[in-house]
Order: sequence, then C-alpha cells, then structure tokens
Amino acid sequence: MKYQAVIGLEVHAQMLTSSKIFCGCSTRFGAPPNSQTCPVCLGFPGALPVLNRKVVEFAIRAGLATKCRIAPRSVFARKNYFYPDLPKGYQISQYELPICIGGHLDIEVDGEVKRIGITRIHMEEDAGKLVHGDVPGLGSGSGVDLNRACTPLLEIVSEPDLRSADEAVAYLRKLHQIVVYLGICDGNMEEGSFRCDANVSVMPVGSEKFGTRTETKNVNSFRFVKQAIEYEIERQIEVIEDGGRIIQETRLFDPNSGTTRSMRGKEEAHDYRYFPDPDLVPLVISSDWVEKARLSLPELPDMKRERYVAEFGLSAYDAEVLTASRELAGYFEACVEQYPQAKAVANWVMGEVTRALNEESRSISDCPVTPARLADLLKLLEKGTISGKIAKAVFDEMWKTGMEPGLIVEEKGLVQVSDTGEIEEIIDGIMAANQGQVEEYRGGKEKVFGFFVGQVMRASKGKANPAVVNELLLKKLKG
Ligand SMILES: [Zn+2]
Repeated sequence: MKYQAVIGLEVHAQMLTSSKIFCGCSTRFGAPPNSQTCPVCLGFPGALPVLNRKVVEFAIRAGLATKCRIAPRSVFARKNYFYPDLPKGYQISQYELPICIGGHLDIEVDGEVKRIGITRIHMEEDAGKLVHGDVPGLGSGSGVDLNRACTPLLEIVSEPDLRSADEAVAYLRKLHQIVVYLGICDGNMEEGSFRCDANVSVMPVGSEKFGTRTETKNVNSFRFVKQAIEYEIERQIEVIEDGGRIIQETRLFDPNSGTTRSMRGKEEAHDYRYFPDPDLVPLVISSDWVEKARLSLPELPDMKRERYVAEFGLSAYDAEVLTASRELAGYFEACVEQYPQAKAVANWVMGEVTRALNEESRSISDCPVTPARLADLLKLLEKGTISGKIAKAVFDEMWKTGMEPGLIVEEKGLVQVSDTGEIEEIIDGIMAANQGQVEEYRGGKEKVFGFFVGQVMRASKGKANPAVVNELLLKKLKG
C-alpha cells in the first residue's frame, strides 16, 4: 500500500523590536544571563503587562503580506502550564481570537505552483531558557536565563496542505523571505529567531481521513526540517506496516542522527486551560491603522520577481536569484540605475560579485565594490576600453582596494589594444616562431587556431581585443 504524507507547520518568528512584548526590557541576543529582566518578565505577583505597539504593527504587516484578514478585535489568553523557564506559570498568547486569520502563500515545487493556506497568525511571548552543564556563576548544574522571557513572537500556523518535505521547505523558505523583507524578523535561524514545529501524519493514498499526527518541536534550519519530516514519514509508515499505531505525541529532532525521538505525549488544547488574560484589554485595531500598514508594506519578493521579468526582461531564474534578499535586489537596482543594461548587470551581480562575497563569507550590504563602481566598470567594458578578461582582474583589484575602475585601468596600463597594427605585429612574430603549427592549420587542422589565439593573448598580456585578434589571425593564417 502506498502512503501520502500530510504536513502542517507552526512557525515561530521572533519580532525585531528593541524591547519585549509586555515590558521595556531589551531583546538583545547574547547578554549575560538575567541581565535583561524586570518584575513583569520575571512574573512577580502584581506586575502588569503593557502591550508593545510595535509588535501589533509587525503582526499586521505579516498578516497583510500573507493575505490574512486582520481581526478588528483580538484577545490575549493565558496558556497555562508548568515549566521552570516560565516564571508566571502561564504564557500570554492568543487563542480563540488571534490577530490574523485565513491567509495563504503560493509556493513553487518542481515548476508547479501550489497554494498553502495559513490558518492564523497570533502574537505571544517567548519563555526563558534553561542552561544545563557549565552555568556561568554557578559552576556545574542547571540554571534559568530569563532574558528571552517575554520576547515577542509571531506564531504562523499553516493549514495541513503540505504533502512532502520539499513542499514544507519551500513554504518555510518563502515565509522566511517574507518576514525578513518586511523587516519584522532578522531570520537568524541559528539563534532561534525563526524556528518551526512540524506536524506530520501519513494516510493511505486516496484516503480522505488524515492519520494520527506527531509534532516535532523547534527545528531551526531548512536542512533539519527536511530531514526531520522525511524521517518522521518513514518512521510512521514503518510503524503502520508492522501493524502498530501512531501515538499522538511531541517529538524532538536530533540533528546528529537525523532522527526524531519521543519527548512527551501531545497535549490537547484543554490541557492548557486557556482563558482570556484579565490583565490585558481586548486589542482593537482600526481599519485606518490596517490601511496605513498596507501602504507602508515594501515590495515583496513575488512582486519584485514579476517586475524584474517584465521591466528588465530577465529570466525567471535570474529574477529569483536577484530577489533572494532585499539588499541584493537593492544593489542590483542601484547598479541598473547607472548602467541600464539589466542583463549585463545581473550577470555580474550573480557572477563575480556573488563569488567574491561567498569567498569571504560577506553579505551584500558589506560589499566593498559599490553599485556605482560596478556600473563604471561595465561602462569601460562596453566602450571596449578593457576586455572581459581584464574586467574581471580590474574587479578583483576594486574589491581589494576600493579604487575606481578607471584609475586601476590607467595605473596598471590595462587599456585594451584594438590597434590592428600592433596586433598584426604580435601575430607575425608568433606565426614566425611556430611554422609547424602554421603548416598544420593550413593542412586543414583547424583546431590549431585556438593555440594561436592563446599565444597572441598571452603575448599581449590579455590586453589584445579578442574580436580583432580573431579577425586578423583568420586572415593571416588563411594566408
Ligand atoms: Zn522585563
């Protein structure tokens, strides 16, 4: 019997606000344990939460970007459970009335576009962190760091519309790209700013009834999500084929083995005894506020991609690569503004610029060659002042020194030689020194032509104009 996987993702995105969701403490990552806390986020009795307006703003943006409805009235609820990293004994979240409802994202897998439903997006606070082993100031043991407690999160819950690990990764990548484009999340998966829980079940192909699902918690890289889901699908099929039953449970992914293991039985919503938080009034959002947020949305990746194809005539692939991040797209557009040959700019940005960035693990915002300088280089290339090969050498020099390309060309004497007299002289010398090859060529061995081109280019130190070299060589060799 063949099986079909059914997958839904719950993504937690940490909001890029400078203070926490219900108090004024800093959200900076990496500070000494418990140095960014106050009575509110430590859960002291009597301390009252005050909602951070920025978090609401960010949630609205996320909702609009994923085509959700923004609820005019939403309610914060207490999710009760006991754990040492949760000082209040409950987490403030949203339950029955979340801020965003009923959106979707279109993903593309193997050339096919598929719409994935987004059930809801809600705001909540993060918990603290338990530290085991070597605890600063304590020696060995276990400690609680509450710096992260009360950090603002958006939880973005998808419909169970995903059918493979690849679809899940495509969805996750797209969502990641959107929250980073929106400037509401730094997207840093290693630091846990963007992580996901994967709900996975399997059912016989053709069945309409979903199987029992498991939830794998806190997976924090695209590769791990793929591994975790693939492992879980295989494991569940094996259990069923061996005559067993899938237990609804929460599982943990182990990156070292690429497997998941049982953590605890899955709680039902009623286990959390949700109820509206009496410390926070219902959140009312005016349509004005929503419209203002809509107008302030940046151009999102899908729109940008379409525009690059329509406006610049780029291929879908190039458009996809160049819009991977807002910064890269910005660099590309700034360059096109000064040198309006989009395809040439695209090739350089995706080629030399990306190669050089990767070699030094730098990001585009840290690129030593500015868009204006790259445009200058392309202009020199177009005018024929330098050859394509020399242009790459000049680019490397610009990268190292930050100098203008014109100055580099001048200082290093790299101007392309198109003067036929000068090139003819070189060709004559090389033909005289390689009579044997000249005979071979004339005897019909046309492959030798490449040898001559190479020799002439070498003799001119790469400066000879290749088009002129080809033309003259052909003339002279044919003799
Ligand atoms: Zn605080």
